[in-house]
Amino acid sequence: MKLLFMGPPGAGKGTQARRIAEKYGIPQLSTGDMLRAAVKAGSEIGLKAKAVMESGGLVSDEIVIGIIAARTLEPDCAGGFLLDGFPRTVAQAEALDRMLKERGHAIDHVVDLAADNEALVQRITGRSTCAGCGEGYHREFKKPRQADVCDQCGGQLVQRADDNEETVRNRLSAYQQQTAPLIDYYRRQGNLKSVDGMLPMDQVFSAICAILG
Ligand code: AMP
Repeated sequence: MKLLFMGPPGAGKGTQARRIAEKYGIPQLSTGDMLRAAVKAGSEIGLKAKAVMESGGLVSDEIVIGIIAARTLEPDCAGGFLLDGFPRTVAQAEALDRMLKERGHAIDHVVDLAADNEALVQRITGRSTCAGCGEGYHREFKKPRQADVCDQCGGQLVQRADDNEETVRNRLSAYQQQTAPLIDYYRRQGNLKSVDGMLPMDQVFSAICAILG
């Protein structure tokens, strides 16, 4: 199964993608995670991406298309994959379509998580993630039992460098201008399903599972 998850930053894409990928036994391919790893490793791609990511803008199409073209050829993608945060521009979507067509493949479902902008700022600026197991937390909505410590594995909770208000507003505006047009792009292709990302997490998960069957 080949899946694509869309939605503004903070709509719960990453969390839902993680659960769905686990349920269907397919890898979650998050370009954001891959770029953060490249920045941490100090690779050539990381050096190019760092400043753009810190400002909340989009990394060049060429870089992310290259990353996804290579990653989807790895053996663990043979049974399908879940794209999380890619494509984010029409040029990326067109490149993805061309690439899949050349390989005789296609996306089975595009899931769009819809959400309200102001609620997103509050959601994003309060969130943290366990550096050990990746479990997500929130200052108001999902507090850990002990401050900054993961309930699941005892790991340290960390905040993303780009989860501050100024950067979040830039990320939301990049989403509105460059990524939101993809909703129409996929609607025209006939395989887009929208889910209300503001519903409680378990309800969003159930709604996505119902779409995927
Ligand atoms: P995310 O973790 O998906 O919120 O992505 C974090 C940041 O990585 C974004 O704000 C962008 O700077 C960059 N990024 C991730 N995916 C893409 C993409 N498909 N195209 C361009 N930039 C991306």
